[in-house]
Amino acid sequence: MRHLIDIKELTVEEIEELIKVAKDIMQFPEKYSEKCKHKKLATLFFEPSTRTRLSFEAAMMELGGNVLGFSEAKSSSTSKGESVSDTIRTVGCYADIIAMRHPKEGAPLVASLKSTVPIINAGDGGHNHPTQTLTDLLTISCEKGRLDNLTIGLCGDLKFGRTVHSLITAMSRHKNIKFVLISPDELKIPEYVKEEILEKNKIEYIETNDLEKYMDELDILYMTRVQRERFLDEEEYLRLKDSYILNNLKLKNAKNDLCIMHPLPRVNEISTEVDSDLRAAYFRQVKYGKYIRMALILKLVNQNNENNVEKNNTKKEIINEMKCKNPSCITTIEQELDHVFILTDEEKNIYRCKYCEHIYKEENWWKSI
Ligand code: ASP
Repeated sequence: MRHLIDIKELTVEEIEELIKVAKDIMQFPEKYSEKCKHKKLATLFFEPSTRTRLSFEAAMMELGGNVLGFSEAKSSSTSKGESVSDTIRTVGCYADIIAMRHPKEGAPLVASLKSTVPIINAGDGGHNHPTQTLTDLLTISCEKGRLDNLTIGLCGDLKFGRTVHSLITAMSRHKNIKFVLISPDELKIPEYVKEEILEKNKIEYIETNDLEKYMDELDILYMTRVQRERFLDEEEYLRLKDSYILNNLKLKNAKNDLCIMHPLPRVNEISTEVDSDLRAAYFRQVKYGKYIRMALILKLVNQNNENNVEKNNTKKEIINEMKCKNPSCITTIEQELDHVFILTDEEKNIYRCKYCEHIYKEENWWKSI
């Protein structure tokens, strides 16, 4: 069965097809209004959300289906100590498809290993957010008319910003993409994104602290908020939270056809004066999110199991010899899980946690079980 846990699981062609369907839905919504009649989507949100949960629910309703679910962990049996695996086995008895958000990295992957229905990762900790990326790709396709030949500035919290990690992964598969990674030193892109995506695919990128330095070169400026909920130290959050505030003055050298994006919610990183600039695409981006989620639900609900290629992992693994020390990894709370590390780079002999992708390191990060 196909799930969507990481954007890499969709081929470039499949994403193009989803974009095509989403554009068709935008033009002819009535054609799709009964496509999911008698189907149910469960939205399991163990972490807050406005856009992602509501757009999934609106998407299913516009397909003629129904929705059920919860919007916070404390209103589910998680508060009684139920594991992710058991919650998923239960919800699979009620729903045809599940969209799930969880603060622990790798939780949706764990869910997909137990589920009898398709699982969609609606955000796992600071790790991935593939449906935001589908939203972003539809936005770029509609606003710029292409997904290649783009210089993309990503600004803000590149460390914990899961939307950034998934977007870099997706865009790295297109031709002539350059990234300008703008962040304070403390919030730079994680090393696994750098090593596994940017460097392996030989993608050109620059890291800088300066928002204005490369402004005139950008085709897209993707602003993000500093992710308060991922900080272990509130003082550090307070020190970094206003690192970048985009305003009209800072856009003075920007291209006329720059596309300004933001996954939202905005806290303080884009001044409201920018909202009336036609290049500000972030509220249009919200609308695109519903249409691409409609296309995704259709694809996963209607999948033909015979045509599905199960992922056959032939990579070397280390099982239950060490445990992941990433405090945000799902293995820190889900008791029944094996601790699995996969060889991701044979040349450098690098192993990474199957769930959260943190690197195997004996000192500090890891310890023997
Ligand atoms: N809504 C996005 C997410 O869930 C971005 C954010 O929260 O800053 O990751």
